[in-house]
Amino acid sequence: MAVIGIMSAMHEELAAVLAVMPDEQCVRVVGRDFWVGHWQGHDVVAVLSRIGKVAAATTATVLLERFKIDALVFTGAAGGLSAEAQVGDVVVASGFVQHDMDASPLFPKHEVPLYGRARFDTDTALSQGLAAAARQVLSDLAQHLGPQAIADFHLLAPRVHRGLIVSGDRFVSTTAERQALQQSLSDALAVEMEGAAVAQVCLDYGVPFSAVRTISDRADDDAHIDFSRFIRDVASRYSLAILSQWLMHR
Ligand code: SAH
Repeated sequence: MAVIGIMSAMHEELAAVLAVMPDEQCVRVVGRDFWVGHWQGHDVVAVLSRIGKVAAATTATVLLERFKIDALVFTGAAGGLSAEAQVGDVVVASGFVQHDMDASPLFPKHEVPLYGRARFDTDTALSQGLAAAARQVLSDLAQHLGPQAIADFHLLAPRVHRGLIVSGDRFVSTTAERQALQQSLSDALAVEMEGAAVAQVCLDYGVPFSAVRTISDRADDDAHIDFSRFIRDVASRYSLAILSQWLMHR
């Protein structure tokens, strides 16, 4: 049976996943805890990605080399860049770019040297499955979130988007920085700190990859406000519900 790797960016998310994997066993490799078990009848290895491109690339490499995963899904939060990606929405990545990669003038800005490309596409079938699961979950919010969280974060009609996510080793938390990113990568929906690195590793190994991110902030001067509470009360619950729904129909 195919082994599915799940990388969570946050402790709260991973804890929620482990709570529904009754038989998981912990295998410790390079300082990371890999949780091997079953979920919705699938062989699953769940692990905390750690934050930033290098840490996430190392985690992905161990999943691929040691645990021989056949597909990899990343879940976490992201800052909304485009006007449509509002707090509480979900973005399923169709591709990734490293927004802080710049070897110009030797290579075009954003191109990863020797790969001949800036953009790393995600697997279409994986992305479609995740988007369908996300739409299902968001259509019945009250089943997954408490009424207080829905009210406090103004989650009236959250939406699922598919498109480009950009990654870099920076928590984008000023309006000026967000605008600069929007100018240089105008089709980007969201920004985070790991996905493009994992997409590059998965391309090297020829293993399908996709990612689902809840918009936790607008990557502006208010980005840090309520971040932890949003992760606990909204993003980690979305992740659990979306992954569960996706695995159930896989
Ligand atoms: N305080 C948090 C970590 C914050 S780093 C903790 O203790 O876990 C932010 C994480 O969310 C990263 O994994 C990144 O991928 C994502 N993220 C959310 N909003 C972001 C933004 N505006 N800019 C960059 N990354 C963001």
